Amino acid sequence: MSEPATASRRPQPPEVDRRAASVAAVAARRARAAVKAAIAAREISPLVVLDRATTDPEGVEGRLRVTEFLLSVPAIGTTKMKEALERLQISPAKRLGGLGRHQRLRLREYLIERENRTARQRNRLVVLAGPTAVGKGTVSTYIRENYPEVLLSVSATTRAPRPGEVDGVNYYFVDDAEFDRMIAGGELLEHATVHNAYRYGTPRAPIEEALAAGRSVLLEIDLQGARQVRRAMPEARLIFLLPPTWEELVRRLIGRGTEDTAEQARRLETAKVELAAQDEFDYRVVNHDVAEAAREVVDLMKVRAASPRP
Ligand code: 5GP
Repeated sequence: MSEPATASRRPQPPEVDRRAASVAAVAARRARAAVKAAIAAREISPLVVLDRATTDPEGVEGRLRVTEFLLSVPAIGTTKMKEALERLQISPAKRLGGLGRHQRLRLREYLIERENRTARQRNRLVVLAGPTAVGKGTVSTYIRENYPEVLLSVSATTRAPRPGEVDGVNYYFVDDAEFDRMIAGGELLEHATVHNAYRYGTPRAPIEEALAAGRSVLLEIDLQGARQVRRAMPEARLIFLLPPTWEELVRRLIGRGTEDTAEQARRLETAKVELAAQDEFDYRVVNHDVAEAAREVVDLMKVRAASPRP
């Protein structure tokens, strides 16, 4: 078969050049994907990416399309992205490095305003952690029942329900496959294997929605989870619930009677390690009395919402 006339007339780069060009194109695409993933994971601020695009319009950041850039910013979906571009008078075909000066300034303003708003919202996210059996569950249940303005996040877990526990109220009880699916779908704000046994994770969507609606949100999670939240949302406040004494903690742990001896020993070991981490927290509350501890936690949520971090 004869080749089309245009193809035979146009000089073709040698095979080796074409291969080099396609290798370079793949590398550039990967580099752009890495930048987008870093924005999505909040490892890099979109403002920094925009600055880099301005400094080097032909670099990785400069070659990012403004559409894919905005879509990688957490909580910006297609609708918000389109609205923003219309409002900012930027064509969806533009790349970051190709924006005009005024477009760039408008986009910058938009991103700064968004970051400030998000930071204010995240001020209202409070993590309650502490050693096992210190009474985190009791204190947070008390808050759910007595302070309806606070949303108590419902975690997903792979452990079986205990008597009296209700799916969707105490936990979402899921199997391993479903838990894997939630992780793969980016549905969990944090997740961890607790006491070397079952997996627990915090669903992201209800939290984002409640914060956006101006509500305070309480997470009752373990130490590993608290650390992950601190990394993902540095504005969140971390409260550590302490037992009045170590002896009291042991008494509460054994007294609960819901775990066998081996499990109790495992949990005591975890509790020792967890107690040692209290200095990482913003506030400490001693659980002498459930109602009192709950009130202190809720008071700290209010303080936090009103004033910046010390
Ligand atoms: P339990 O099985 O006794 O209800 O909870 C065991 C531990 O898992 C507790 O220390 C609790 O704080 C922790 N936990 C519950 N939900 C979550 C979660 O979503 N993420 C993490 N990291 N820990 C959780």
